[in-house]
Amino acid sequence: MESLRELYKVGNGPSSSHTMGPQKAAQIFYKKHSDANRFVVELYGALALTGKGHLTDWAVKKELGPLKTTVLYLPKINYDYHPNGMKFIAYDQANCLIGEWLVFSVGGGDLKNLDEPRSEPNLCYSLDKMQAILAYTEKKKISLLEYIIEAEGEEIKNFAEEIVSTMFKAVEQGLSVSGILPGPLMIKRRAQNIYEQYKKSFDFNTLVFAAALAVSEENAAGGEVVTAPTCGSSGVMPGVLYVYHHIKKYPLRIISEAVLVGGLIGNLVKHNASISGAEVGCQGEVGTACAMSAAAAAYINGGTNQQIEYAAEIALEHHLGMTCDPVLGYVQIPCIERNALSARRAIDSATFALLTDGKHYISLDDCILSLKETGKDLHPHYRETSLGGLAKRKLTYNND
Ligand code: SF4
Repeated sequence: MESLRELYKVGNGPSSSHTMGPQKAAQIFYKKHSDANRFVVELYGALALTGKGHLTDWAVKKELGPLKTTVLYLPKINYDYHPNGMKFIAYDQANCLIGEWLVFSVGGGDLKNLDEPRSEPNLCYSLDKMQAILAYTEKKKISLLEYIIEAEGEEIKNFAEEIVSTMFKAVEQGLSVSGILPGPLMIKRRAQNIYEQYKKSFDFNTLVFAAALAVSEENAAGGEVVTAPTCGSSGVMPGVLYVYHHIKKYPLRIISEAVLVGGLIGNLVKHNASISGAEVGCQGEVGTACAMSAAAAAYINGGTNQQIEYAAEIALEHHLGMTCDPVLGYVQIPCIERNALSARRAIDSATFALLTDGKHYISLDDCILSLKETGKDLHPHYRETSLGGLAKRKLTYNND
């Protein structure tokens, strides 16, 4: 598995696979062909179907030049490799083809070429299954955090502190604004109002909801967030961590250690299954975010390695099969509310695991395998294409 630096990325929403990934690809292509006279970007499969709502066209045009770039939506072109394919094409003054690049945005802002193996090499972590990690840490009598530091080096702690700081900035930015989110759905921001209610009640759950909503609303508005593991699911972990710091008064040191422990879970899903909604549905995005956050919460509350693994497994198990069906292709309905609910579920999963000795019947590794298989079996309508499920329904309420 790769470093956690490749999992937690700072960038602008609303989507790591549809915005950050294509934007990064456009930057790379532009560097090679900065002298091109014009560009064509072909978006395939799920990228074509939900690219508009996820601002894919805006992201690539920003890098290649809005006046020089034509974006074509070709949903019928699909590659088995991954549903988020795109081709960048460059032409010179004489309209001759000077370069083209077929590339895939595979989730979490990562890019892959058609011939690249899907799972990354074990660059940083030599063990890529939780059972093997648990056996290793048991033998060496070390915590999961110590295992992570052994693999990544001490500097990873500084990285985690920066990640927490960016997450909390997104919470505070999201709590400070009200109004309507961009896009045709005209969704009202609700984080600030719920935060006002928290200031009267000081209720733990109210702040969990407010903080998670704040980040998800920021993401929907194109604000700066941390992929945890994706932009669409970026509200879950800050929602959990913010309350443990602000209400339970856990120091930032413990909070950033929890980010590392949660990151290990995200890395396992990314390596052994997928964190891409277009590939496996929302179980891979918000489901993984919930598992990461449950592990983080279990760590903060003093869980053993086994209890942390169980907390993550509970959270993931009860998101299996969750579809991705964003209304009109915007990362708003059901995404924003789902982040808030899953933040609460992460805390419940940790609480449940900590009431046990951590022994349980389905391992996290098997749960991740089930996620992968379930994702494959999901009809494409439920994998970020906005062709089925909630995406087919009419809104029953508007703000007018
Ligand atoms: S439903 Fe889930 S996976 Fe799909 S866009 Fe929303 S957050 Fe992402």
